[in-house]
Amino acid sequence: MTNQPFTEAQKQYLAGFTMGADVARAVRGLPVLAGSGGANSNSATVQIGGSSIAGSKPVPIAQLPEQMAYDAQDGFLSQGKKLSSEEQAKREKNPLDLWNEVVERSERGEFPKGSDVFLTKYHGLFYVAPAQNSFMCRMRIPGGEIRDYQLLGLADLSDGSAGGCIDITTRANLQIREIPARQAANILYGLRDLGIISLGAGGDNIRNVTASPLSGVDPDELIETLPIARRMHHYITQHREMYGLPRKFNIAFDGGGRISALDDTNDIGFHAVRVKHDFATSQVPAGDYFELTLGGITGHCDFARGTGVLLREEETLKVARAIIRVYIQHGDRTDRKRARLKYLLDSWGFDKFLEHVQAEFGEPFRRFEITSAQRHMAEDRLAHVDFHAQKQIGKCYVGIVFPVGRMTSDQARGLAEIARRYGSGRLRLTVWQNLIIPDIDEADCDRVREDVLRLGLDYSATNIRAGLVACTGSAGCKFAASNTKRHALEIAEYLESRFELDAPINIHVTGCHHSCAQHYIGDIGLIGAKVEIGDDLVEGYDVVVGGGWGENRAIGRVVATKLTVAEVLLRLTQILTAYVEQRDFNETFNAFIRRQSDAQVVELGSRALVADRSAGQSLFAR
Ligand code: SF4
Repeated sequence: MTNQPFTEAQKQYLAGFTMGADVARAVRGLPVLAGSGGANSNSATVQIGGSSIAGSKPVPIAQLPEQMAYDAQDGFLSQGKKLSSEEQAKREKNPLDLWNEVVERSERGEFPKGSDVFLTKYHGLFYVAPAQNSFMCRMRIPGGEIRDYQLLGLADLSDGSAGGCIDITTRANLQIREIPARQAANILYGLRDLGIISLGAGGDNIRNVTASPLSGVDPDELIETLPIARRMHHYITQHREMYGLPRKFNIAFDGGGRISALDDTNDIGFHAVRVKHDFATSQVPAGDYFELTLGGITGHCDFARGTGVLLREEETLKVARAIIRVYIQHGDRTDRKRARLKYLLDSWGFDKFLEHVQAEFGEPFRRFEITSAQRHMAEDRLAHVDFHAQKQIGKCYVGIVFPVGRMTSDQARGLAEIARRYGSGRLRLTVWQNLIIPDIDEADCDRVREDVLRLGLDYSATNIRAGLVACTGSAGCKFAASNTKRHALEIAEYLESRFELDAPINIHVTGCHHSCAQHYIGDIGLIGAKVEIGDDLVEGYDVVVGGGWGENRAIGRVVATKLTVAEVLLRLTQILTAYVEQRDFNETFNAFIRRQSDAQVVELGSRALVADRSAGQSLFAR
């Protein structure tokens, strides 16, 4: 037999094996094997009943809460497969146990290196070099509701330890940027003091759980979703098992009201539906339920699909837990591109997947196909901006506009004060990167108007700006091909100067294929691309049109690729001109694009391409 070195897969399998041996030795009060490296050694402290059992008699190994994830890794290794580098990093150091390391590194004024950059994201801290030599901190704001004192505290925290701004994200969440290495620990302490959790806001985790932003005040909603989203959030943050996923994961609750939670873009969507008496059966009595949808990931051109499973409000958490456990056990851990839930669903099919989920859930599912005729059609695409009546008589809410989601710390303080003085101290974030203050007495609306304007903000928006969303872009994200936030504002300004539209047109500007601004579901979607101009590479975009969500769900179709920003402006002008001139009476942009063939879509505005590239580029040269 030749003396061959171990293959990479064999080494990984042995690492897993020695980890198991280390746990067994720790249980027996013995030191871990010298040189084993103790794969996931930080997590292998075995305790029973809260006290260390080192030196005690042999006892059964206590199951680690995250053992399911390690077992899933072992499954791939035993087949001779190689774990992705992120899975290997998680195996070597449990990211949940890095608090001391993160704090000590911050005290030394250092940023993480190598795989620690990825692992530190588990604590909400993203080292965003080379875009910026600083951290970005993402939080978890369950259901998008934040209290006035929390927003005040965040403003102070951003002024003292970060760049003085707070960004609203497309998951109704908040981020603080420009955090020096030495301030990272202060940010973590400050958030905890405010009752805000950042653990699991990045990395391979269940991200901020979203809910309908008008939950509890919406005259049209079927089910109040904020309390459910908060329960889900607390369950996740209290169970280490829920941090053992193969990749990131999104959960949304939509109560069927006026503002969409974009649940069909999530891995798990719970969408409120009403079963009317005419359609009720003995198994499914009339009433309001959540329809379970699975596998949404629009960056990969897929919406969440219906499962035919209807759930009572109180069943949603247990079903989500079951889905996540199946995903932890069977999701891909060798190829990051195929590690999202969609790919497990594609490979197994929905029937097999739901069988596994049902086995975890422990009861037969309530099956009922909801037809479009039974869907609740309450969405209003402008309900997230301006003043609107609530379901509570005499109360209203105001939706404040934030072009591409950025607020200064002074604006944050001002908004917190408005919420405290005129509302209930509660503020709601939306996936449209804006903010709602509910519970205002109708008599106070004029005063709120004045106070909002005094902050340099607005409550009304054009049909272009109301649905304008942009990801961080090259100003703060290393993946971005273009400066999305800056270009989004320039594009909105340019189009507003040429068109007065009578219906909303959403423009989603995203910097790379990660699709944080969900370009495929915008009426107009832009994705960053580098464009060759002579010997130079300049910032530009691929353009898609005709995307939508909910009842109008559609993946945007490609109009053109690799356009400079100036060419994008010309192309969009041509497309909107075609829409305004050729649409049928009251036809929406989405419907107008839907009736165009692919060839016609490409043809839309192609005359714009006669523009001289270098001349056009200078239109917005900075
Ligand atoms: Fe960064 Fe890409 Fe996400 Fe934009 S879409 S924030 S560029 S990762």
